[in-house]
Amino acid sequence: MARPHPLPSFQTKLLIDGEWCDGAEGGTISVANPFDGETLAEVAIATAADVDRAVKAAERAFPAWRALAAHERGRLLLKLADAIEADTANLAGIEALDTGHPIRDCLALDVPRTVLCFRYFGGMADKLEGSVVPVDAGFLNYVEREPIGVVGAIVPWNFPLMFTSWKLGPALAAGNTVVIKPSEITPLSTLRIGELMQQVGFPAGVVNIVTGYGQDAGQRIAEHPGIGKVAFTGSTATGRRIVEASAANLKKVQLELGGKGPNIVFADANLPAAIGGSAFAIFHNQGQACIAGSRLILHESIADAFLEKFVALARSIRLGDPLNPKTEMGPLTSRLHQERVLSFVDIAREQGGDVLTGGRAPTDPALAAGCFVEPTIVRAKPDHRVAQEEVFGPFVTVLTFSTDEEALAIANGTEYGLGAGLWTQDITRAHRFAKQLHAGMVWINSYKRVHPASPFGGVGRSGYGREMGFEAMREYTVAKSVWINVDAQIPPFYRR
Ligand code: NDP
Repeated sequence: MARPHPLPSFQTKLLIDGEWCDGAEGGTISVANPFDGETLAEVAIATAADVDRAVKAAERAFPAWRALAAHERGRLLLKLADAIEADTANLAGIEALDTGHPIRDCLALDVPRTVLCFRYFGGMADKLEGSVVPVDAGFLNYVEREPIGVVGAIVPWNFPLMFTSWKLGPALAAGNTVVIKPSEITPLSTLRIGELMQQVGFPAGVVNIVTGYGQDAGQRIAEHPGIGKVAFTGSTATGRRIVEASAANLKKVQLELGGKGPNIVFADANLPAAIGGSAFAIFHNQGQACIAGSRLILHESIADAFLEKFVALARSIRLGDPLNPKTEMGPLTSRLHQERVLSFVDIAREQGGDVLTGGRAPTDPALAAGCFVEPTIVRAKPDHRVAQEEVFGPFVTVLTFSTDEEALAIANGTEYGLGAGLWTQDITRAHRFAKQLHAGMVWINSYKRVHPASPFGGVGRSGYGREMGFEAMREYTVAKSVWINVDAQIPPFYRR
């Protein structure tokens, strides 16, 4: 596939205090296209010293930003949403080249969802009301929600554009300023958002972008004494390190970590819908989604019929150049990650798992340079590693059950608790499971639905705190309780 001409436009430097600049220690990170291995850009490396500068800029920008009328902050976010929409072709191209997402998905999901998110929080900015609390007679008590100050945002490589909006939208609407670090693997769309923010008139220092390595720039954000909250999406292991580092100044931490999403198909399910929905649950974005339906839990009476069609569907998925509009599955986002996903095929086999399809890189020479993994379906047992650990690829583990109790035990039988889904016509069972599933989000007769108005987050090892919806506005603010002695009472104690 020919590269787009002209190539999408994006920045390659750090954005600090409204200026595009090199890192203090110089040097660049090569950003590669996971489809052909070619270098897309050389991006400046931010180190701890750059994070320190970025935090200072965000601290300076904070008083004026929080003092700006909420509707003015909202207006800027709405203008940003319009600018992103107008830049759709460019941003979709950047995301496809940098992450390997099929352009079809970038145009239908990544960019429109980013626009929707900024619009939602633009509209939300002046809807954040406080409350008046009934307390003792003679006193008025009201509660205001105040911004935290400087927020550190750490964004992973699987949905860099969307996750940038999930963090910037509520943080800015609530009146915080931000230092954001995209993954060094996929920084380009976040940098483009920075450019668009400048174009629509965000003041200098309100958002600062530091493109650096996790262990250095990321770690500095987590421990920085000037940052009041860190919002992180990524692995459970790194989430733990962030909590440890955050203890230095007891900052607020929000963690959106991994998952091992159960996707239960009951005997009474609408099978064509369940088959298509289960394929979307695991194969969209090459399975690189924390909410992927990576455990397919089938009732034994329908398992064979379901799998026959599901395997055929998986084999029909068109792998290819992300820029080709017909491509349904692109490469994984990095070589290292491709190797990690393929290593789980060996792990599955060693424990007696049965690979029904896939389990390797495609043999088509046209795809040889890309980080591809064929859609992979493995039958295993609930205690196998591939039924417990997050693979984060186009890799689904199939388990079977005979009773509702067994289905629930399997579904709740991991340390994770992010998304969960079930397919059934029985409304009573649907509600019972919705209540009993150990998860932050439950989908009934669908999977992986997300909307900026609906809270997103997990329980257990999947993290804590919520993105999106009104919940997110709480996460990015603190409550201040104000007491007024309206009757001018003299306090009863120490009265003289
Ligand atoms: P990480 O958790 O290491 O990376 C996620 C983000 O954290 C990146 O921006 C990374 O920066 C940053 N980071 C890394 N180390 C630190 C640190 N010490 N302090 C602060 N920030 C840091 O995930 P991996 O990329 O290693 O992926 C491993 C696995 O994690 C995946 O296979 C998947 O299972 C899970 N994962 C889950 C995601 C989710 O959506 N919940 C997203 C990504 C991964 P940089 O990349 O620049 O090093």
